[in-house]
Amino acid sequence: MSVKPMTRREFTLRTAGAAAGAFVSVRGEPGQARQKSTTLRVDGDRLNRWVKELSVFGRTPEGGVSRVAFSEADHQARSYVRRLLEEAGLDTRIDAAGNLIGRRTSSDPLFPPLWTGSHIDSVPEGGNYDGNVGSLAAIEVVRTLQERSVALRHPLDVVIFSNEEGGKTGSRAVSGELERRELELPTASGRTIGEGIRFIGGDPARLDEARRGPGEIAAFLELHVEQGGILEQAGVDIGVVEGIVGIRRWNVKVQGFANHAG
Ligand SMILES: [Zn+2]
Repeated sequence: MSVKPMTRREFTLRTAGAAAGAFVSVRGEPGQARQKSTTLRVDGDRLNRWVKELSVFGRTPEGGVSRVAFSEADHQARSYVRRLLEEAGLDTRIDAAGNLIGRRTSSDPLFPPLWTGSHIDSVPEGGNYDGNVGSLAAIEVVRTLQERSVALRHPLDVVIFSNEEGGKTGSRAVSGELERRELELPTASGRTIGEGIRFIGGDPARLDEARRGPGEIAAFLELHVEQGGILEQAGVDIGVVEGIVGIRRWNVKVQGFANHAG
């Protein structure tokens, strides 16, 4: 992962500036959009409470989570998050690839949606922040926009992708990269990817409907915990990811015999 450190001040200025200039307006108070939007603050206590509540699903004795995609714990956690989306006033649906999507409608139906969100499945023996923070923070942002009556020109979709850790099923279905033969692959849940999609409410027979073409999503933003310690060591609160580690896995069979050198 290559991260360019950015101070919190720089980040706030950039994002608030972009938001105010690009698409934010406050209902009934046109000329004051900029002033209002820069003073928005999320409720950190509420967000932390949700992180804690979500951590119950698949909790391990060590305090982490084993919530592999398509497991019972994953299914229950998705139901919990769907309730949060509904409480935030969003219209929820599950797309054909099993992605959970909540939509906040916009003041102008002609603009394509902004997407934000992450995943809530985990690797076996995973932590409580990977994916969860980005998912729940997205909902918190929507709740804050609702409470402050901030109208956006774009619809705002919160998306919880399916099976991020076992093949990036949901996100690759959206980008059109998911291949039909992958539906037969087994997952750590004991279900194949196809069975798993059906288990969480999707429909693998209609995968193509989950696909979004160029221009159909205005922008996508994912908040994610740092997958390393660079920012933490540097004392920087937030950074923008410019590249990530590419993972390749091979099964290698070596024929021969073992001797003292291996
Ligand atoms: Zn993640």
